[in-house]
Amino acid sequence: MAEAALELVGVDAFYGEVQALRGLSLRLERGEVLCLLGRNGAGKTTALKAIMGLVAVRAGAIGKDGRDITRLPAHEIPKTGIGYVPQGRRLFSELTVAENLEIGLMTRKKGEETRAAVLDLFPVLRERLSQRSGTLSGGEQQMLAMARALCLEPDVLLLDEPTEGLMPSMIGRIRDAVSGLRDKGVSVVLVEQRVEAALSLADRVAFIENGQNRETLAAAAVRADPARLRRYVGVG
Ligand code: ATP
Repeated sequence: MAEAALELVGVDAFYGEVQALRGLSLRLERGEVLCLLGRNGAGKTTALKAIMGLVAVRAGAIGKDGRDITRLPAHEIPKTGIGYVPQGRRLFSELTVAENLEIGLMTRKKGEETRAAVLDLFPVLRERLSQRSGTLSGGEQQMLAMARALCLEPDVLLLDEPTEGLMPSMIGRIRDAVSGLRDKGVSVVLVEQRVEAALSLADRVAFIENGQNRETLAAAAVRADPARLRRYVGVG
């Protein structure tokens, strides 16, 4: 079998004494969009945090392109080529658009060429380079958060509910950006609450429940089987 872009095997993760992941296993193939679906509190966000070294992983292993990254400190993880856009975007709101991008570029010492490619993907940001990011619209902030992550030229991108709270027109633009990235060979883990949004983008879906991956299925198989959606997500 080909090496996975990213692989979690039997990961246990904790917040203090509270266990949030219980032997979670996931496999992200190169160039695919893998969507994590599950109810509130199932552990989807924690799975992304575990990959980024932001929660305590007490058992199991996390590998990128076959390299063990389980014990790397959090600031080293992005340098391995993993971009992360957390829920709620977490921009430096006092800084301008240009300054936020600069922070992304510095992380892996990327330059003007990378910056230009990222701005080509989100042209609206080019018009707003000197605007404070806290004054952007929700959709523009999401684009900036993605743009900043892409300044690392990641080959794996983790997106936590990127379309949450956005207008439908913006949702479409974010979706187009994600599928454009996949076309360029970027592998994506997408946490999404809305089943429709998930199924319209995902190649495969992992159903997360109680800190475990119950099963991973092709998106087409999920569409044909609403009973699964009812069972794991409560809709469908
Ligand atoms: P949601 O979509 O609601 O964010 P989720 O599937 O992403 O759901 P997580 O946020 O990963 O779920 O939460 C998994 C479990 O870990 C939940 O039981 C949650 O209460 C717990 N948890 C999350 N963050 C913390 C924290 N900072 N401290 C303690 N427990 C936490």
